[in-house]
Amino acid sequence: MTISLFDISGKSAIVTGGNGGIGLAIAEGFASYGVNLLIIGRNEDKNSLAISRLEKFGTHVFSIVADLSQESDVKRVIDYGNTNLNLVDILVNNAGINIRKPPQDFSVNEWDDVISVNLKSAFLMSQKVYPFMKKLNGGKIINIGSMYSVFGSDWSVAYSSSKAGLVQMSKSLALSWAKDNIQVNTILPGWIKTDLTAPIEDLFPDRFDIINRRIPTGRWGEPDDLIGTAIFLSSSASDYLTGTSIPVDGGYSSF
Ligand code: NDP
Repeated sequence: MTISLFDISGKSAIVTGGNGGIGLAIAEGFASYGVNLLIIGRNEDKNSLAISRLEKFGTHVFSIVADLSQESDVKRVIDYGNTNLNLVDILVNNAGINIRKPPQDFSVNEWDDVISVNLKSAFLMSQKVYPFMKKLNGGKIINIGSMYSVFGSDWSVAYSSSKAGLVQMSKSLALSWAKDNIQVNTILPGWIKTDLTAPIEDLFPDRFDIINRRIPTGRWGEPDDLIGTAIFLSSSASDYLTGTSIPVDGGYSSF
């Protein structure tokens, strides 16, 4: 009865932003559990490098270059995924960007860019995989939020708005699609060492110190720290869990 709870082998997953950082770690975790994959990023070289890492696990792995802030690219990705992966069991909406500056200095384009990549693309991707998941009588959608889904941010207003929006979007999709056996949940990573956060130490040393002092476990997370929760939320072990958010933050949000 419990043996197959975490068995996701043979499933198909799309991981947006799967060519680096958290997305690649989750993709590698999936591949190591026997999942076929489509990863998406804007940078072809990063995609190729990621594919060479993923291929080692022996599942079917594909990549596509796309800018998910554009609806036409989302459509192209879904067509490609349908052709190569057939139906999709798991969608991880992970692609994300941040612009760090005071709110009064944001241009409309900067606001739109962050909201489009972080929030709109997750909605469009979810909307477009829905018919495939419905056909399969179920599916798993995992959105990658942030500590800023919960806390305000004085240095990244568009980012925190997009990440809070993801939580409400997840809850709403979870309600809408519960009867279709599609579970929609959000992972809230704490401070994880990736390209996104690498500039903080040099550009914002005071904040870097505050962050370090505040993490109860005493260390930043590694991208691999997200794998276990992603596998849980993709497997039948989480079939009765939907519309919720799980912090993976070394205790940061409990402080
Ligand atoms: P990275 O910068 O390493 O990864 C971001 C990924 O998103 C890359 O694969 C990038 O690919 C892709 N991406 C960005 N814009 C687009 C776009 N327009 N279309 C398609 N793909 C895009 O950062 P992380 O791994 O840290 O971030 C992954 C997610 O985790 C993000 O949503 C981030 O907000 C979230 N997060 C990260 C935290 C951290 O501490 N690192 C904390 C909380 C949340 P490419 O460069 O090829 O476009």
